[in-house]
Amino acid sequence: MTEFLHNNNQLRKIAKLIASSKYCVAFTGAGVSVESGIPPFRGEGGLWNRYDPQTLELGYFFEQPDKSWEVIREIFYNFFGKVDPNKAHLVLADWENRGLVKALITQNIDNLHQQSGSKEVYDFHGNAMRLVCVVCESYVSIEDAELSVLPPRCKGCTGLLKPDFIFFGEGIPQLAYSKSVEAASQCDLMLIIGTAGEVSPANQIPIIAKNKGAVIVEINLEPSAYTNRITDYYLSGKAGEIMPQLDALIKECA
Ligand code: NAD
Repeated sequence: MTEFLHNNNQLRKIAKLIASSKYCVAFTGAGVSVESGIPPFRGEGGLWNRYDPQTLELGYFFEQPDKSWEVIREIFYNFFGKVDPNKAHLVLADWENRGLVKALITQNIDNLHQQSGSKEVYDFHGNAMRLVCVVCESYVSIEDAELSVLPPRCKGCTGLLKPDFIFFGEGIPQLAYSKSVEAASQCDLMLIIGTAGEVSPANQIPIIAKNKGAVIVEINLEPSAYTNRITDYYLSGKAGEIMPQLDALIKECA
């Protein structure tokens, strides 16, 4: 049964749980970056209301790389590149620094966790800040990539460059997958922030944690696929507001 928590006294209970946990792992989704100005894919203001998801299908990318790249450049580089981490990202980075969070699994590709200082980050869907050559598999950092002529090409072999995040139809990066499963199996508390829990196989990660006995705490604006199923404590609200509140309460308890 999910317990829905609202007031400060109830939040204090979660602050104590986090402070006393032995191995807390965070699992984040698009919602953690909404307050930085990056819209989620679905719902009101979602990216798929403005863009065709076909752009990120692997087959379409190979058939029409110039068209696919035009949309990719607009969403992920002209726009994502100009946003900053918000308070939720910053609190998570600080908690890792203080030993309160051991690892962070993210479905996001925006690099904002790394930008805010988190180090043990598993990019379950890859990361937009790197491009990969589909022919020779060499990597190019986005700062060194030339996006004025599309599609961008590898300087070494002239192969097509693709963002190093997964497209529809692609598998999960192996290392991020194995690290995520390991962290989920090990944790005694999982903090799920801003994900609807509808994208597979990422949505199985909290279920692994639950099955191994972890307490599940969820922060979201609205109930997700986890709420009333595996979530023990549900905190309703914006991640950028609740995370600093929890942080203040943890500092009070210390
Ligand atoms: P989603 O779009 O399906 O769901 C977003 C969730 O965040 C919703 O449950 C919503 O209620 C919640 N939310 C919105 N604003 C919030 C806030 N301020 N605080 C807390 N919660 C908030 O996103 P998803 O579940 O992460 O899955 C969609 C896929 O989209 C993922 O695979 C992810 O890779 C990708 N995506 C990534 C980015 C990014 O990198 N920032 C952006 C859009 C989509």
